[in-house]
Amino acid sequence: MIGRSKQLFIETRRGGPGDRDQHTDGFICGHCRKMVTVKPFTDPVQANGFCSTCMSVVCRECSAKQTCTPWEREMEQYEARQAALRSYGLEN
Ligand SMILES: [Zn+2]
Ligand SMILES: [Zn+2]
Repeated sequence: MIGRSKQLFIETRRGGPGDRDQHTDGFICGHCRKMVTVKPFTDPVQANGFCSTCMSVVCRECSAKQTCTPWEREMEQYEARQAALRSYGLEN
């Protein structure tokens, strides 16, 4: 069963007296790090998406992009851009 990794979380919070327990199923998107909740008994991969490049469960938006851009890589690209701008003397 792919995608059932540490990315997925199931959270149960006890409510106060008379409150019902809150139950949340969800996962952290492997691309944008967004916390996505899914309805109980819903397969997060089915409801959202799965990236076979980085083997991560991803959110609907990232799944729709059909590209693999994990957030680590986006940060690297951002930093590389900043460094390039500095070296060209274009900063500010
Ligand atoms: Zn995402
Ligand atoms: Zn990916």
